[in-house]
This record gives sequence, structure tokens and C-alpha cells, in this order.
Amino acid sequence: MTLSEIRKKYLEFYKARGHAVIPSASLVPENDPTTLFTGSGMQPMVPYLLGEDHPEGTRITDAQKSFRTGDIEEIGDNRHTTFFEMLGNWSLGDYFKKEQLPWIFEFLTKEIGLDPHHLYVTVFIGDEQNNLPRDTEAAGIWRRLFKEKGIDAEVALLGSEADGYERGMKGNERIFFYDVKKNWWSRAGVPGNMPAGEPGGPDSEMFYDFGTPHDPKFGKECHPNCDCGRFLEIGNSVFMQYVKKPDGSFAQLPRKNVDFGGGLERIAMAVSNIPDIIDVCHRPIIDALERMSGKKYASDSPEAPAFRIVADHVKAASFLIGDGVLPSNNERGYFVRRLLRRAIRYADQLGIQNVALSTLVEPALGQYEEQYPETYALREMIGQEIDKEEKRFRETLSRGLKEFERWYSPIESSYEGYSVERSETIQKRMPGFVAFNLFTTYGFPIELIFEEAKKRGIEIDMEGPQGFKEKMREHQELSHTASAGVFKGGLADHSEKTTRLHTAHHLLLKALQIVLGPQVKQRGSNITSERLRMDFVHDAKMTDEQKAEVERIVNEKITEDLPVVRSELPREEAEKIGAEHEFGQKYPDRVSVYSVGPKGATVEDPQFEKAFSIEFCGGPHVTRTGEIGHFRIAKEEASSAGIRRIRGVIE
Ligand SMILES: [Zn+2]
Ligand SMILES: [Zn+2]
Repeated sequence: MTLSEIRKKYLEFYKARGHAVIPSASLVPENDPTTLFTGSGMQPMVPYLLGEDHPEGTRITDAQKSFRTGDIEEIGDNRHTTFFEMLGNWSLGDYFKKEQLPWIFEFLTKEIGLDPHHLYVTVFIGDEQNNLPRDTEAAGIWRRLFKEKGIDAEVALLGSEADGYERGMKGNERIFFYDVKKNWWSRAGVPGNMPAGEPGGPDSEMFYDFGTPHDPKFGKECHPNCDCGRFLEIGNSVFMQYVKKPDGSFAQLPRKNVDFGGGLERIAMAVSNIPDIIDVCHRPIIDALERMSGKKYASDSPEAPAFRIVADHVKAASFLIGDGVLPSNNERGYFVRRLLRRAIRYADQLGIQNVALSTLVEPALGQYEEQYPETYALREMIGQEIDKEEKRFRETLSRGLKEFERWYSPIESSYEGYSVERSETIQKRMPGFVAFNLFTTYGFPIELIFEEAKKRGIEIDMEGPQGFKEKMREHQELSHTASAGVFKGGLADHSEKTTRLHTAHHLLLKALQIVLGPQVKQRGSNITSERLRMDFVHDAKMTDEQKAEVERIVNEKITEDLPVVRSELPREEAEKIGAEHEFGQKYPDRVSVYSVGPKGATVEDPQFEKAFSIEFCGGPHVTRTGEIGHFRIAKEEASSAGIRRIRGVIE
């Protein structure tokens, strides 16, 4: 069964059970300042899980494009990918456990034909410290479902992951109780870490058993959460049923939600019963690579990781470029750059000399033509961007190599800004900072520096205060501090300050259009509790007068204390009234729109024709502009060709 077939069956299955099928959100999160990329199906749903009404109702389902940056360096094993799709279904105060578990079980065992004998589940063991009960309800439902298939599913009380490795699995055990670390969900993690007012609840994961032997390198005994590869997690149902009270205790939420997410590629692996993501996920790219390299892919060959890396990275980069993220040195763009450069390195390793990575775009996107026609339609542009990046990288490589030669050559007596005393004898040792400089200044990949050194019999100084390791450590520390704000948590920050900045962001876009012209379009944004940042299409530096005028307009609208109104309406109608939306973004049939002003506008009578600003937006926003405070442009600069960037703060 192909990815498309499974995806289609899933969406149809939930549609038949009253769910609205919504399109995937962009890989670049909208209004979510805490994370660079959409990494799960839940992410765009957070405002609704926290209580906002969803314009499509209380039962929602989708397949969400997702990208996870965490383990780019670890891609190459048989089950991880950076890009994947997450199948999701949500109950927003609608159905709960007794519908969710039987449905997902029916989908897996009947619709796509998984053998229930291969399925294992986990449930929440309870938390005495916080007086949270064991989830016997979920366990009871699972027991009954397995029984209906003629399977006697016994329960096992494991507790922590360590307990699992110690005790293992016995007899007919199929339902495993784990602790807060494994089977509790909240944005803040375990119950003890949750702030007052935060919702959370137990979850229940499903695992597929490939039946491969346990690898004791991971722990004494095997259990569903073991990492040896025998079990693959294919889905998780989160039951948001509690809220933490100010006194630290937990109460039942009046409106309980279900959040289900399951990796499409992993479910496809289970359906094929082959523990290798390649076959279900990357086959067309692998075929192309086999033709280009003259080598055959075999899942246990030493070259398998290189095949998998090239396939994963080209696909992920194609989708990211399709969603507007071009290779560059800043934030998001840097991930695309890393993916492509790494793919080139590994394609070279496969013996494909001067690979044209862009020829892999068609095989990478072909299987998504039906589901993501808007991405597929961009394949030519995507190929061109990849070509450009490949060219840049090849230039970097040859420049780096030249620099390497320069240092190495006995005739030279100094090296770029450093006076390196040298003679025939020190040529065989490269100071750590020189190697480091090749990496940071010339962008020469670290693995290549070591390879070139090895070829020439040169040793790189690794230890000591000037050694390579120390330099790298300092470098990583710096870049971690810089990005810590973005990567923490991973879910939207809806703090009051961020909300105020978000509304200011809407006012700013409109003010820019007034001052610079209606052609000004937003091309990306990012809001933290410190500042807002907006990229927009404009081809010249703003003058001081223009900046002052934009600030004046925004502050004027703040002083007028205009109402901010949220409306839900059909997409076409929203387009007709001129609501701003991001270029290339696909929206559902019913959308949420925020309008600012005029005075007297209300939810019942939003008076769009007199509004100052109207945008497609999920919120949240302040209710009146007067809450924002004084707005100031902190910086205006070039972001990339034809794109300007503004940083704004409120004081
Ligand atoms: Zn195991
Ligand atoms: Zn907005």
C-alpha cells in the first residue's frame, strides 16, 4: 500500500465519522514564534486545543507536512526522516476515549489490514505525587478491543523506561502501563512542571512489533518503548482531560479534547511489515540514485545510509523550498542549506560525480502530486534553487581546498591573518584554529577538512585551549545561545506581550502598504515576547521619513483604541473583502479572519468595509489596540534580494 493510499483511507475513514478534512498547514508556522518549522499535526491546532473555536467544527482531521530539525546528523538509519507527514484527528470537546481508541484500532486493523497480533499499546500508570489516577479506562477499552479479535491482552505495570528494560514482557502482555515521562502529555512536560491553568492529560501509544530479535545493547530486556528496532511507535492518542489549579492540584477540564497523531511513513512501514523506511517512502529517489551510481541499494549494505540521507534530504529540501524557505545562512534557510550540502557530499560518496541534485526533485515529489499539487507545481523553481545552491557549494569546496593548499604549501610563510611559523616539520601538524577557520570562514565541511588532512598525512591538533575541539565547543555554545529562544518548547507562546506584538504586526503591515504602496506583501514573520520581525517585498531601503510615518500610523491606530474582531467566514468571501494572506499558502474552506477597527465594530457587525486592517489569521490578538502600548521600529534592513526586514518593539 502506498503512502497516498493510506493517507486517503485515513482521511476518508474520519470524514465518514463526522470529521472536517482540513488541508495541511505550511511547514513554516504561522504566528508561532517559538519554533522554526511545523513539526507535528498538533502544532497548528494548539489555539483550538486551548479553547478557541475551530471554524470547521469540533471534529477535525488532516495529514500535516512536518519537518524536524533535531536529528539531521542522525538520518541514515532505517526509520528516521526529517520530513514526514502526520495523520491527525481531533475532538475539540466532542468525543473522547471510548470513540477514539476503537476507531483508530478499527482503522489500523480493518481499513489498512494490520495484524492485531503485531500491535502493542501503552497507557498511563498514574502519578501518586499529583494524585492523578491510573488510566484504567483506556486499558479496559484496549482489553475489550483485543478480545474482539480473539486476543487475550494482559496488562503489565512497568513504570519507568528503566523498569521496562529490567522487567521486560511476559506471557500474553500487550497493554503496558508507563509513568509520567512516557504517557503523560502537556506543553510543559510532566505534571510537576506544569504552570497553573495549563491543560494536560494521559496518552496512549500504539506500537507495531516487527518481531526482530531484541538487541541487548539497548538494555537487558525488550519492551514496547525499547529502542532496539523491534517495536515502532505508529500513533499516539492524547487525552486532554485535566487542568492544573493554582494550588497545584488537578481538576477535570470542562471541555475535554482528543489529539491523535500518527506518522504516515511509519504506519506504511507497519503495513508492509518491512522495518526499512526506504521502500515505502523513498523508492522513486532510490531508483534514480541506483541508475546514477550504478550501485544497488541493500538495507544492510555499508552504503545504505548514504542512499537514505540523499533521499531524505532532497525530499525535505524540496518541500521546504516549496513552502518558501530558500537556502541561506539565516535560521530556516540554513537548514535547507545543510540538507542540500549534506546530500551532495553523500551523493559524491556514492560515486555520483557532480551529481545534479535537481534531477531528484521529480522522483521526490512525484508521489505527492495529488495531495500537494501546489508544491508539485513548483518543482521547476525548486530544481533551479537546488541547482544554484549546488553551484555555490561546489565553489565553496574549491575555495576551501585552495585555502587548505595555501596553508599546506611549504612556500607560503603565513596563513590568512595568522602568522604560522612553519618549516618542513610543522607542516605535518595543523593547528586546531586553522582547521576551525577553514570551517567557519570558508565553509569547508568538517568531514572534508579531516579527509584532506588524512590524505596528506597531516594531523590536526585536537586538544588544548587552541585545539579544534575547544574551538568547536565555543562555537556551538554561541550558536546554541543564539537559537535557544527559538527551539525551546516547540509550541506557540501565547503570552500577553507576544499577543500585543502580534496585533502590532497586523497594524505594521497595513501601515507599510499605506506608506510604501499596496504591492508590499508579507514574506515571513516571527514574533517573540521581545520583538516582532517581518519580512516583506520591497526593493529599496526605507528612508527615515518613511519609517517615521509608518511608526506614526501604527501609534495613531493604537491611540484610537480600535476594536480587534475575529470572524469566521468562507475563504472566498474573505478573499473578496481583501483580507491579507500569505502568498502561496493553502487555506481551508472556512477561515478565521481578524479585522482591526473601525470604532464600533463588533463580532455581530464587523464592518469590514471600514476596517483598517483585515488578515487571514488564527490569532490570538488583544481585544482593543489600546492594549498594545507604544510601537517603535528598532531596525530596518535587507533580508535578501528584494526583501526587507523590520524588527519592531513595543514600549
Ligand atoms: Zn528491544
Ligand atoms: Zn496574524
